[in-house]
Order: sequence, then structure tokens, then C-alpha cells
Amino acid sequence: SQPAVGFVGLGNMGNHMARNLLKKGYPVVAYDISQESLAALKKDGASVAGTPAEVAKGVTKLVSMLPASAEVQEVYAGKDGIFSTVQKGTLLLDSSTIDPSVSQDMAAKAEALGAVFMDAPVSGGVNAARDGVLTFMVGGPEGSFAEAKELLDNLGKNIVHCGAVGTGQGAKICNNMLLAISMIGTSEAMNLGIRLGLDPKLLASVLNTSSGRCWSSEIYNPVPGVVQGVPSGNDYKGGFGTALMMKDLGLAQNAASSVKANTPLGAAALQIYRTMVNHGFGGKDFSSAYLFLQEQDKS
Ligand code: NAD
Repeated sequence: SQPAVGFVGLGNMGNHMARNLLKKGYPVVAYDISQESLAALKKDGASVAGTPAEVAKGVTKLVSMLPASAEVQEVYAGKDGIFSTVQKGTLLLDSSTIDPSVSQDMAAKAEALGAVFMDAPVSGGVNAARDGVLTFMVGGPEGSFAEAKELLDNLGKNIVHCGAVGTGQGAKICNNMLLAISMIGTSEAMNLGIRLGLDPKLLASVLNTSSGRCWSSEIYNPVPGVVQGVPSGNDYKGGFGTALMMKDLGLAQNAASSVKANTPLGAAALQIYRTMVNHGFGGKDFSSAYLFLQEQDKS
């Protein structure tokens, strides 16, 4: 039988990931500050704990999926945190998108306790989490990667070892910075073309057979009605929130400052997503950049 796995953070992504572990026969010991999320997972067969410390007491493998750096610090190193009870030899995999320097700090604290902490942020949205086809970008000791991959293979289809701890976050942050830039670029091009009198579907098909083509234009077009089954066609509900994109762009700017890399378009993208958050777009999918541009044009 499979070993028990701890799981902390049962939100939009984590609840699916924990359920996939249950489906694959792993006993899951779960914790979330939301009693509602905990109760739902208990119904599906998980046992529940009262604190992260209680989770860590009973397992030697643990996955966390939390919003941001502060929650990761709290869950691992805070009061009743994982580090207060973690057993020697435990593998800790954090799939949250956070500051790489926080991942490095958590890894050093884990190492001092005889445990291994690896950053393992993901790409792929809620549907990929549900279907178990996420991409994991893993940072940490080479010698622990095989054990990490064995567990993450149950949750994803592409598990990549990026290098030392923090490099998984680095890869993730670069991807999302590029995604934000391309989403804003696609929104600008679509808005301009539509205002020049072009039909949105026709314009998208020209872009997608030309050199402007990208994931945002082809798979996740921000103009309602161009692509079926994406948030733009559903009032920008669901998907990847504008507030989370703003967080990731902030991480990219901090990382860029730490190595003095020039990222002028990344900086502009952060400003645009921050302005969107301040105009009430925080809960909408990040493709609402198009809606925001349109509204600005009108005002
Ligand atoms: P979410 O806000 O839906 O879920 C976070 C969960 O953590 C919630 O259930 C919350 O109750 C819980 N939580 C918060 N503080 C806690 C604490 N102190 N102790 C225990 N539980 C706590 O977020 P999400 O959409 O699941 O995203 C999680 C992470 O994955 C984020 O870092 C996000 O940037 C990243 N991510 C999200 C997506 C996506 O499409 N949603 C895709 C890729 C990566």
C-alpha cells in the first residue's frame, strides 16, 4: 500500500491535487484554514488535522499549495507549523508560486531538521490540476528528485528538475512574466484591429497563422467569442485571477532586482495588472486585460 501523504492548502488547485492522490491510493492527511474545504476532502476519504504540525507528525511526504510567500512562511515556520514536528527524512514539496528566496530559506530550515524542502511550482490551470496533467518545475537536491517525481507523477504529466532550490520558482516566474506581456500585447492588438473595423474571429485567425501568434492569441484569446470554453466567453470568471498575476509579476520584479536584470516590459505589465486590481478586476481572469483596455478607450 502507498505511504500517507500530508497536504496543506486545499484551494482551487490544491483540492484537485489532494483528490488525485486519494484516487491513486495514497492515504491523505490534510489541513486548510478553511473548515469547508477540509470537510469536503474528508468526505472523499482524507483524514483531517487541526494544524500543519499535526499533519507533519504523521507523514514523511508532504505537499503544500498556498497563496503566497507569507502563508508558506506561516505554515512551515510559524506557530504549530510543519517545522515544529517534522520527522527526519521527510520530503516537503511546496507547489505554491512564491519568492525564490523564501523557498531557499525554508530549505535551509528543513535541512537543519534533517528534512528536504523542494520548490515545485506548477503551470497549467485548475482544469490541468483536476485532470492530473500539471507541469511541475522542481528545485532542490538532485538526490531527492526521483522521490519527488514518483509522487508528482500522480499529479502531473511533465516533472522537470530545474536545478537547486528556488530555480523552480525562477522558471515559473519567467513563464508568467512572459504570459502577462503576451496577454497584454494580444489584448492591444485585438482591440486596435477591432477598432479598425476587423471582425474579431477573422483577425484572430490571421494572427494565428502569422508571426504574432502566441498562446494568448490562439488558446486563450481575451476577446469574448473568439475561442470557446475560456474565461473571456464567461464574463472573465474562473481561470487565473488578475490579483494572482499581479503577485507573480511582483515576484518577477523582485527577482529581477536581485540580479539587476532589465525587464522593462515586465515592469510595465506589473503596473497594468496593478491598475486593473485597483479598478476592481482582481477577481476576474487575467485575460480581462482586453476588457480593461476597452473601458479605458471609452473613458
Ligand atoms: P487559492 O487561494 O484558491 O487556495 C489557497 C488555499 O490555501 C485556500 O484553500 C486557503 O484557505 C489556504 N490557506 C491560506 N492560508 C492558509 C494557512 N495559513 N494554512 C492553511 N491553509 C491556508 O489559490 P490557488 O488558485 O489554489 O493557487 C495556489 C498557488 O498556486 C498560488 O501560489 C498560485 O499563484 C499558484 N497557481 C495557481 C494557478 C491557478 O490557475 N489557480 C495556476 C498555477 C499556479
